Amino acid sequence: MMKTDVFTELLRNSVDVQNFLKRALSWLITRLGSDAGSIYLYDESERRLVLRATQGFDKNLVGKLSLSLNEGLVGLTLREQRTVKEVRGRDHPDFLIVPELKEEDYKAFVSVPIYRGTTPVGVIALQNRREARFSDDDVKSLRELGSGLSAAMENAQLLLEIHEGHPEHPAEPDLDQAPQSGILRGRGASEGIALGRAVLLGTSEAYLSEPNPEHYSVTLKAFQQALKRSIDQVEQLQKDMEIRLADVASLIFSTHILMLKDESFSGEMEQLIQQGATAPSAVVSVVNRYIGLFYQSANNRLKEKVQDVKDLGHRLLANLNRGSHEDGDYIGQIVVAQELLPSELIKITAQHAEGLLLFGGGASAHVSILARSLGIPVIFTEDKALFAIRQDDELVLDGFQGNAFIRPAVTVWEHYQNLRQQYRDSDLNETKVNKSTQTKDGRDVHLYANVNLVSDLPLTKKYKAEGIGLYRSEFPFLIRNDFPTEEEQFRVYKKILDEMAGKEVLLRTLDIGGDKVLSYLPQSSESNPFLGLRALRFSLKNKSIFHHQLRAMLRAGDGHELRIMFPLVSSLDDFREAKGHVVDCIRQLNHEGVSHNDHPLIGSMIELPSACEVSSELAKECDFLCIGTNDLVQYLLGVDRTNEAVSSLYTAYHPAVLRTLARVIRAALNHDCPISVCGEIAADPKMIPFFLGTGIRKLSVTPKLIPEVQKIVSALSWRECQVIAEKLVNMGTVDEICRYLDTLVPA
Ligand code: PEP
Ligand code: MG
Repeated sequence: MMKTDVFTELLRNSVDVQNFLKRALSWLITRLGSDAGSIYLYDESERRLVLRATQGFDKNLVGKLSLSLNEGLVGLTLREQRTVKEVRGRDHPDFLIVPELKEEDYKAFVSVPIYRGTTPVGVIALQNRREARFSDDDVKSLRELGSGLSAAMENAQLLLEIHEGHPEHPAEPDLDQAPQSGILRGRGASEGIALGRAVLLGTSEAYLSEPNPEHYSVTLKAFQQALKRSIDQVEQLQKDMEIRLADVASLIFSTHILMLKDESFSGEMEQLIQQGATAPSAVVSVVNRYIGLFYQSANNRLKEKVQDVKDLGHRLLANLNRGSHEDGDYIGQIVVAQELLPSELIKITAQHAEGLLLFGGGASAHVSILARSLGIPVIFTEDKALFAIRQDDELVLDGFQGNAFIRPAVTVWEHYQNLRQQYRDSDLNETKVNKSTQTKDGRDVHLYANVNLVSDLPLTKKYKAEGIGLYRSEFPFLIRNDFPTEEEQFRVYKKILDEMAGKEVLLRTLDIGGDKVLSYLPQSSESNPFLGLRALRFSLKNKSIFHHQLRAMLRAGDGHELRIMFPLVSSLDDFREAKGHVVDCIRQLNHEGVSHNDHPLIGSMIELPSACEVSSELAKECDFLCIGTNDLVQYLLGVDRTNEAVSSLYTAYHPAVLRTLARVIRAALNHDCPISVCGEIAADPKMIPFFLGTGIRKLSVTPKLIPEVQKIVSALSWRECQVIAEKLVNMGTVDEICRYLDTLVPA
């Protein structure tokens, strides 16, 4: 069984938060064959480590014994963020005698710090009666297992913090109201058509409203049944997601599961019912109290839980609803929200929402890319009329055009119902794709896929991609609650390389920063995040994160041809420094005798004007280049790719963009350096002739678009493309370029 399955089972079989910690500890102790152990969770407000589970020591100390970071080996572990390993714990100068613990019987000691990203979560300590050092393998396993548990441990800590008393009075979230309108215009961030009733998350109606008791079962017995059903459903969701999205869904529903089992949550509901409240009003009252507590918390990570608790309320009510056969999922519903984290998007998709209507452009890029991978229609809008949408309003989303219809006329509803059906039918039809692609005058063009999640692989293979031209390795980092360990990354990369065996795969190292924010990294307040600590810059600053990733890639590449690519390279110096880390990791792995690929091909993305200026130098030293036009366009034109207000200025049909692209491609060809294009415009029918005409032979696109791109390429003549490209680079205005491109492919 994989580790995450074990932890899911542990969550499943636990009756509450304390019980979960106790079981997790007992499992660790058995797994490592130790005699005793303790879990301490870090209470940030008190700055103390509190004993939360113990085996082999007095259980009455749980919740009572706490240590500052300056106390004992446990304090030392978190303070210095390192493993402490001793043959006799009490010989260590930092050992603290806590008389109540009665540790005399135990000699060998090991403890590891648990972090979620860079946030301290706690310490796990194990002890043995024998005077024999814990082995390096034991330590490695404990670190690995502890890190797998970190998300659930943190959720446990957050719940315990809430119970132990914090703000009482929920404040109404302060959100603008605006007049309602029938059609709301925005940007289709993920294609598709959705019809359904609105469910409001994190907008002005953040609290659950009191349902009409007529439709609900009201008794304690009914509540207990609804609770049991809800637990079973969420556990099933967790299992399903771990199969479908193994790379990102690790313990993604752990807050849900822990809360449902938490005495102070479901227990309080039971108490209210026993005191005379109806079951639905007890649910609403407790859920709203928690929403208020979470909103008011100064801790941002607790604020993130608002959605989870509201989700649970929604599910419990659905399970209490006598007339409903729904199970609390979002079937038939369109989620309307102000902002959404990638992890929330995954949870909502797992719960079968029809589509999403989101406010703003905030986190658009990665939420959109993720939504496309998950195949759920999404529209972003900056129209404040979104806040006038009411719970259960009928909505239609046209993710192709970026339009949302609020309470549409019957004719609009029916029109879109038909369109949705046509769209579904066309999806079912076998799309014909050839194994290879040629222009009509016989030039080979290689079509690759951009892959974000392991779940993109089936479509990649179905559409016969010749390889993966871009694997965005940041997705598993973005969605999870914590940095994936080297082992977890290794499994993901290996799966990708194994599934694509014999084909080219470009694994890109972490590209976070900009709009791709990790919720578990303390927000550094950059005023210009796109110009800040992004992508390769982040990796070069955070060497241990970088090394874990590189080691995972090198290990996964054993037996495969491995290609590693760096994002946002700005100079040859950057490239050399990054490559130096690959060499260091290869040296380490050799030294450790761990099997790996020791001759990876190493390349650079071209996404910055500075990189374009040194493209000859890069082409000489890199094994390959890949042009990321999404970023290149924004940096060349100084237009934020996520800002709606300037989106009309964000265009590739600009003389500066076309001339720069032509120059970079020429430099690569002059040095026989393989070059590809992987930005969204690699699939743009107007840009494909230009790319072919300038010498591009590899295009990497969203898997879904491969058949369409193949059709376009097959209808083009390479010679004509050369003439087109020549004309385009000589045009001096956007207007002239647009008019010319319209003659090639009418708008
Ligand atoms: C790009 O910038 O074109 C690219 C492919 O990278 P991303 O969209 O992931 O930033
Ligand atoms: Mg990019």
